[in-house]
Amino acid sequence: MQNRITKFADIVLPIALPSLFTYRIPKEWNDLVMPGIRVIVPFGKNKLFTGIIRTVHENPPITYEAKYIDTLLDEIPIVSEIQFKFWEWMSLYYMCHIGEVMQAALPNGLKITSETKVVLSDVAKQKPDILNLHSNEYKIIEALLVKEILSLAEISKIIDIKNPLGIVKRMVDKGILLLYESIEEKYKPKLTTYLSLNNKYKDENTLNELINLLEKKAYKQMEIVMRFLQRRQSELLKGIKEAEIFIKKKDIVPTEDNTSFLALMKKEVFDVKEIDAGRFKFEMDTNYHKVLNTEQESALHAIKRNFEDKKHCLLHGLTGTGKTEIYIQLAEDTIQQGKQVLYLLPEIALTGQIINRVQQKFGARAAIYHSRMTNHERVEVWQNILNDYSNQALNTRPHFDIIVGARSSLFLPLHNLGLIIIDEEHDASYKQQDPAPRYHAKDSAIYLAQLFNANVLLGSATPSLESYYLAHEQKFGYVKLMNRFGEAVMPKWRIIDIKEEERNKTMQQSFSLPLIHAINTAISNHEQIILFQNRRGFSPYTECQECAWTPTCLNCDVSLTYHKSLHLLRCHYCGYSTKPYSECSSCASTHLLFKGLGTERIEEEVELLFPNAKVARLDLDSTRSKHAYNQIMNDFADGQIDILIGTQMVTKGLDFSNVNVVGILNADQVLKFPDFRSHERAFQTLVQVGGRAGRRKKQGMVFLQTAQPNHPVIQLAMQNAVDALFEKELLEREQFHYPPFYRMIEFNILSPQRELTDEAALIFSESLRALFKDLVLGPQTPSIGRIKNLYLKRILVKLKKEWAYKKVRQEINELLVQQSKLDIFKKVKIQVNVDPV
Ligand code: ADP
Ligand code: ZN
Ligand code: ZN
Repeated sequence: MQNRITKFADIVLPIALPSLFTYRIPKEWNDLVMPGIRVIVPFGKNKLFTGIIRTVHENPPITYEAKYIDTLLDEIPIVSEIQFKFWEWMSLYYMCHIGEVMQAALPNGLKITSETKVVLSDVAKQKPDILNLHSNEYKIIEALLVKEILSLAEISKIIDIKNPLGIVKRMVDKGILLLYESIEEKYKPKLTTYLSLNNKYKDENTLNELINLLEKKAYKQMEIVMRFLQRRQSELLKGIKEAEIFIKKKDIVPTEDNTSFLALMKKEVFDVKEIDAGRFKFEMDTNYHKVLNTEQESALHAIKRNFEDKKHCLLHGLTGTGKTEIYIQLAEDTIQQGKQVLYLLPEIALTGQIINRVQQKFGARAAIYHSRMTNHERVEVWQNILNDYSNQALNTRPHFDIIVGARSSLFLPLHNLGLIIIDEEHDASYKQQDPAPRYHAKDSAIYLAQLFNANVLLGSATPSLESYYLAHEQKFGYVKLMNRFGEAVMPKWRIIDIKEEERNKTMQQSFSLPLIHAINTAISNHEQIILFQNRRGFSPYTECQECAWTPTCLNCDVSLTYHKSLHLLRCHYCGYSTKPYSECSSCASTHLLFKGLGTERIEEEVELLFPNAKVARLDLDSTRSKHAYNQIMNDFADGQIDILIGTQMVTKGLDFSNVNVVGILNADQVLKFPDFRSHERAFQTLVQVGGRAGRRKKQGMVFLQTAQPNHPVIQLAMQNAVDALFEKELLEREQFHYPPFYRMIEFNILSPQRELTDEAALIFSESLRALFKDLVLGPQTPSIGRIKNLYLKRILVKLKKEWAYKKVRQEINELLVQQSKLDIFKKVKIQVNVDPV
């Protein structure tokens, strides 16, 4: 009987349109369809999309005739009811379409569309015979062997099937095809050369002969061999077996003397092995057993006690107090109870040390998930988590107990979540800026945890004012860790007045005398130094010395940054670049100067001031290639770098034992952001970067250069005085109607024409004012009024936290729908940003 009924399905499609779309289900699939299953459906004239069934019902749509579902892609749901609830909440709270949430939630590999392109996997290239292929599959492979990349449209022609998505999907599942990824996405390992002794020379006599020979004829070669033998000896003493001894080439061969090395290779002294050094090693360390100290132990207890009556707890542990070990212990306890743990980190911290620690502890039971992974890797994690779920009945051990990931890991198909850890909870990068959903991972995590009845631990050395306030109001538990782990103590700060240094003419370029001294001393003690400068490139702007003209971007209202290594002026917003100007466009003077300080310039100054130091730079430019970040981290950990210069990147969670000096080259830059959060942010940045110093035995030193030595935030940062800062800030936030007392919704109005933007912004702000009176601010032109040729106006609405947000949201949504009918809004985009950061 069942099979005779005509059924329909409401389907979520990954597009920015309101509502779901109803499709008709071919009768023979009546028993196979259920919520959470992926389907392929036709859309518009000739597009195909992967969608997800939300509900199955028997009501045909009223206003249009339903098309048929084309293909079923799954047998079991890949999205659970809880996740749908999460998506729906997100689309409501952040005022976006559910299709946009789906777009953010699923890795691209799970969303094949008619635009998708595919390539052959390595297995298929090398051993197609083992694959047991159908004739159509065979045709596709043959075509791909000739033409490396095929689009679905091309495949459709080759096998003469209108919709090849089903076949392609099966081939992807079988590992024959991979979805094509652009060149940048492809994984290019950076290899490190390791050497081991060739078998021939493992015999003592042969080895001695060689050394004798080299001593007379090729002294430099002998030195290399001796260095190798020394290292080998110390490895042997550590109990490492000969067969496992590999020595890094660059540790024993001087860079300028590759000739000697090649000569040795000719003599077959060494075997060479290339190892992907970009990847941190992650064997599970069975000895990983860190005993918490008394303070950590009691913090852990306090957190657990808090979880008994509150679901959320803020762990405020000063830098270096050992929060990570507490997270790991709490995670382990949760796993023991048979539950999963989600460990959130800001994107950039995800390639680094914390991952290493988590993997040492949990080995292959830990999954990693972030946007720098390839599509393929992300799909694999997704599928493994899903398989755990469907295998549950078999009582098999799950693949993953703990997932360490960026904000997008909130969307993974978790099913038994017990704990979410939000590390560096103050970090602004937890908020997605573009595209929609513009969600905050922290608030979203709290909602997700509620759906699972799971606990949330938020941790930071510099909590956000919002979390601190919630702890203060007893909505969150609050646990504080005051003392650094082991013998380490908090660093000592020295504030340097650059105006005075300049008067005394003691500045050498950007460096004051005390900082130079400290760096020299540290280098001679074989200690390391971190220098912080929050601008990348060489110089943030060029200026004509006659008329003050500054070159700006063609597409954006920003000055162009000079990148010396590229010898280009670049826009940091749209990527536009051009050759540096030789004369002023306004007065033709040739007297143009590069002004301001970027990390590249600092690097150049450092190389001149400290010619013997090994220097590296850590910023967006130096870490473009996928594993460059890890490479720099590894080199720094290995002592291959003395001075590390960087932007924000050096402030995020780094734990290096040998860093005893931190230099903040220009704190004023951090202090000047025109935003109600500027003090909070500046405090966080200064304390975090300072916190990299002296994390082991010796007390570290922080040198802060500024023109405003008495600035209150600097004074508070050096004392780590969070309470004092927040007391002052909270008063102001309440008085001027800012979070955490008010919720803010930001509207960005964009169009390619200035007048259009202005007019639309005015109309929209007036209708908002009709609703919310003087709680509406603007329209204002933001500090950058044009980006990528779109003119921008901004309107802010401030809403008292206690107000019924649901009603407000409805009113705004209605307004947006009404306005979208006006002609002017057909050419203007309105972006809604709830809780902007
Ligand atoms: P935080 O995240 O609070 O800044 P970390 O967790 O990075 O601090 O800890 C600082 C250092 O102390 C790390 O190198 C860590 O390995 C070490 N450490 C912390 N707790 C322990 C412990 N219980 N046993 C051994 N080492 C620890
Ligand atoms: Zn000029
Ligand atoms: Zn630009």
